Amino acid sequence: MMENCSSNETREREIAQNLEDVRARIARAAAKSGRNAEDITLVAVTKTKPAPDVNAALACGVRIIGENRVQELCEKLPGITLGDAHAHLIGHLQTNKVRQVIEKVAMIQSVDSLHLAQEIEKQAARHGLKMDVLLEVNIGGEEAKSGVAPQALPELLANVQALPHLRVRGLMTVPPRLDGGEEVRPYFSAMRKLFIDIASKKSDNKDIRILSMGMSADFEIAIEEGSTMVRVGTAIFGRR
Ligand SMILES: *Cc1c(COP(=O)(O)O)cnc(C)c1O
Repeated sequence: MMENCSSNETREREIAQNLEDVRARIARAAAKSGRNAEDITLVAVTKTKPAPDVNAALACGVRIIGENRVQELCEKLPGITLGDAHAHLIGHLQTNKVRQVIEKVAMIQSVDSLHLAQEIEKQAARHGLKMDVLLEVNIGGEEAKSGVAPQALPELLANVQALPHLRVRGLMTVPPRLDGGEEVRPYFSAMRKLFIDIASKKSDNKDIRILSMGMSADFEIAIEEGSTMVRVGTAIFGRR
């Protein structure tokens, strides 16, 4: 028992230290680009990590956790002390799973088709709630990746905005997997252009404030390119 306890404490300290490092890196990247660190929201990506790890992060002030699979989220949530923190769904969502997550998450970051949006509309209406969503953009034009093509984004946006139980809060992307470093920057920069284009276009778009991009390997570059929300897993919880 004692050993178990002290190893839990070691793990908690490790997560606390990693979080401190990530927050410092966010602050540095923000300062470097003349932005406020408070304008960048950290989503702690908890996929594959056990509930005690998630609780350790929440105890250190994490406000949003991100999970990418419905089943894992539903299984893990009962062991998690969310308090007034929230869960976001960040991975591909099948329409037949919407029902299971509609009351469990504060945001669905991965809306990439009208079909999916319509199912969210149906379930949100049934539960009398309004769901915040991001539209996921396939900025690298990769065949096997989810996300709407940039050219198709304006039409999807208009159609989703017509659904009364959804509120589009912004855009999300997972750029192509590269060797790291500067290669990813043009994709983030292209996302910022799309985002600014949309956010400044119409008064309908005043709720569009979130540009969710940047993961462990590249969140500093994403912040320099205008990200307002970074989704960080490995740098907080270690390898999966
Ligand atoms: C896993 C995941 C992340 C976090 O990735 P890390 O490299 O571990 O920081 C971010 N966004 C999405 C959509 C993910 O699936």
